[in-house]
Amino acid sequence: MNEPRFEGSYLGDASRINDDSKMECKICWYVYDPAKGDDVWQIPAGTPFTQLPTHWRCPVCDGDAEQFLVYCDDDY
Ligand SMILES: [Zn+2]
Repeated sequence: MNEPRFEGSYLGDASRINDDSKMECKICWYVYDPAKGDDVWQIPAGTPFTQLPTHWRCPVCDGDAEQFLVYCDDDY
């Protein structure tokens, strides 16, 4: 149990993201929650971040999906 904690943006490395991982926009702090999906892009609830369409962008600031950070609420 000595995995390094991932803190940077995922940069397209989907292997770092679990199906239930929340992802946070580092520009506007919008959090994508797979349990909720995304009304703006009509993403159904239960869609993992890794399964979002490639054209998906932050619904708040239009930032690129690749600049999202893994959001670790397990730490708190
Ligand atoms: Zn954003």
